[in-house]
Amino acid sequence: CGIIGRVGDGNALEPLLTGLENLEYRGYDSAGVAVQNGSGIDIQKRSGKVDELKKSIGDTPLDGEVGIGHTRWSTHGPPTDANAHPHTDGTEDVAVVHNGIIENYVELKSRLADHGHEFTSDTDTEVIPHLIQHYLDDGMDNESAFRRAIDELEGSYAVTAMLSGEHVLYAARQGSPLVVGMEDDEYFLASDVPAFLEYTDSVVYLEDGDVVIVDNDGVEFTDLEGNPVVREPETIEWDP
Ligand code: GLU
Repeated sequence: CGIIGRVGDGNALEPLLTGLENLEYRGYDSAGVAVQNGSGIDIQKRSGKVDELKKSIGDTPLDGEVGIGHTRWSTHGPPTDANAHPHTDGTEDVAVVHNGIIENYVELKSRLADHGHEFTSDTDTEVIPHLIQHYLDDGMDNESAFRRAIDELEGSYAVTAMLSGEHVLYAARQGSPLVVGMEDDEYFLASDVPAFLEYTDSVVYLEDGDVVIVDNDGVEFTDLEGNPVVREPETIEWDP
């Protein structure tokens, strides 16, 4: 239902939680965040409101300059802690948030299970981190594995993925909204502009078929095959 992602200097946790609170108006049943510090991805997620997520984070240091967050509106599987996003492949290597519905998830899930992948949620989303890991295991680099996984998805999605050990977010959209926010040295991905408006008013609206790669140096806008596409930033008028 709601996606937020952030790359920049300093801790990502605060802009992520602020983003989730700003997306609360959309309605949701679960919330979660994932951040990384170069040695694995840390995740906190649970059913309920962002406030309850904040309570369960408590004083646990969730430390990392790059992160993703999600508010879930369940379509596949009840609103439980296990079904909340971000989802992983069972390791601390890949974390994914997703809005929309993966129509071919049953088929993908059984194919991946044949390759030894074990699933811990009822969601359609969980196939995405497993697919990415499957192609990493095949020897692909992170970007190729992400693109290849996205290429296999049928249905509607806004997806943001984070892989351990790098300051990068990968995102793709098909039929579900996704926007990029750009500030000096700080970049955001979100399902909707209000998520990051207090951090930046410079926004790019992605189009179906877009794949973006965001790191500390900027945003690369491409199509699924990796060809560059031109997406111009717009300035949003708003009264803080
Ligand atoms: N289909 C996914 C799920 O049920 C994503 C739902 C959403 O857009 O929040 O977890």
